[in-house]
Amino acid sequence: MRFPYAVLFLLTATQPLFAQSNPPHHPKPVTHKPTLSAEAVQRSAIVIDTHADTPQRMLDEHYDLTQPLNGGYLNFASAKAGNLGAEFFSIWVEPKMNAGHYARRTLELIDAVCQQAAAHPDQMMMAYSPEDIERAHREHKLAALMGIEGGHSIEDSLGLLRDYYRLGVRYMTLTWSNSNDWADSSGDIDDPSVHHTQDGLTDFGKDVVYEMNRLGMMVDISHVADRTFYRAVITSRAPVFASHSSARALTAAPRNMTDDMLRAVARSGGPTSHGGVVMVNFYSGFISDAWRNAWNAQAPERQATEAAQVAQWKAEGRTVTYGMADALDRQWAAKIPRPPLSDLIDHIDHVAKVAGIDHVGLGSDFDGIPSSPQGIDSAADLPKITAALMARGYSPEDCRKILGGNFLRFFRDVQATAKQLQAESDNRPRITDQQPFRK
Ligand SMILES: [Zn+2]
Repeated sequence: MRFPYAVLFLLTATQPLFAQSNPPHHPKPVTHKPTLSAEAVQRSAIVIDTHADTPQRMLDEHYDLTQPLNGGYLNFASAKAGNLGAEFFSIWVEPKMNAGHYARRTLELIDAVCQQAAAHPDQMMMAYSPEDIERAHREHKLAALMGIEGGHSIEDSLGLLRDYYRLGVRYMTLTWSNSNDWADSSGDIDDPSVHHTQDGLTDFGKDVVYEMNRLGMMVDISHVADRTFYRAVITSRAPVFASHSSARALTAAPRNMTDDMLRAVARSGGPTSHGGVVMVNFYSGFISDAWRNAWNAQAPERQATEAAQVAQWKAEGRTVTYGMADALDRQWAAKIPRPPLSDLIDHIDHVAKVAGIDHVGLGSDFDGIPSSPQGIDSAADLPKITAALMARGYSPEDCRKILGGNFLRFFRDVQATAKQLQAESDNRPRITDQQPFRK
C-alpha cells in the first residue's frame, strides 16, 4: 500500500535526518542505526529512472504493462512495488533492421508508449516536464516520458527533431552504438570502414545540439565516442547528461565514462547551470570487469550460434524482432554468474565521489540488457539500492537526490536554458545555413 504523499512528507520532515553532519561529497559509514528505514526513504522519494527499452516489447510483442513480467523488468506491479515514479521509455530504432525507415519506426515506438498511457489512465500518465512528474507522483501514477536513443532517428532533419519534441520526446542520445552522419559513437569509433566526423560533431551536429538546447530537449551523451562527448559539452548551452552510463575507472567498457568525463558532466552548461547528471547503468557488462571478460570470451561461439539461429528464422519466413534476438543473448548471459549488487553500488558511489553527490542518478537500462546484478530482477528491487546506499552511510537526503532529485534539478535547468535561448532569438542562423553541408 502506498502512503498519501502528505503523510510521508510529515513523517520525513519531523524525523531527524541522521547523517546531516557528513560532508555530502564524502559520505562516511555511520556508527548508529538510521532513524529512517530505507523503505521509508524509498517511499518518500520521487524515484526516476531515465532508461528502459520496454517500448520494443510494447510494439513488437504487444506487451501491456498490466501483464506479468514474463522475462521483462518493468510493468505496473513492479513499478508500484519499487515506488518508481517516472520512467523514461527509450525510443530506440535498431539501425540495421530498420534501415530506410528510421522515422517510421521512431513514430511507431512513440505511439506504443502513448497507447499504454491511453489504455491505463488510472495507472500511467504521459509527462513532459518536471511539474508533470510531480503531478503524477501526487496522483500515484507512473509518469511516462520519452527519450530517443540514437540521432539517426532524425534522418538529418531539424524539422523531424522538432516534430519529435512536439510529440513529447524530452531527451535524445546523440548516437546509439552506430555513428551517424553528424556524431560519432563509441560502438564503432575504431572501425575504419565507418565514416567518422573530424572533431566529434559536424557543423550540422552542432546545429542539432543548439536546436535541442532551444527546444528544451535534454542532450544525452551515453554511447557517444569520447571526442563527441567533449565536443557536445563544449557546444551545449544547457547542461548535458548521461541517461544510462557507468564508470570506466571501475569497468573498462568504452561506453562507460572516464573520471574526467564525470567531472565534465557535473560542470556542464552555462554560468547559471547547476551541472548535469550521470545516471548509472545496471548492466552486468558495464559494472563488472569479470562479467564483461566472460561475456567477451564467449563472443565468437555466441555470435556464430545466434547468427545461425537468425538465419534459420529468416529461412522459415519469420520476422526477427529485437525481443527474439534479446532472448538468445539472455540464454548466453545466463551461463555467466551475475555480479553482486555491491558492484552496482560501487559505480554509484564512484560517480558520487568523482562528479559529486548532486550529479548521480539511476539509468537502469531495464529491458535492454541481458543481465543485471544479483537481486535486481525488476523495478520492484529498486529499494535494495537505497538500502545498500544507506548501509554505506548515504543520508536519506543523499538517497533522495540519487533516486530522482538530481535529475529533476537538471531537467529544470535545461528548460530554463531553453526559455532564455527562445527569448534571445527566434531565428538564430544555423552554422549549416552559412556553410555547405559536410559530414
Ligand atoms: Zn543504450
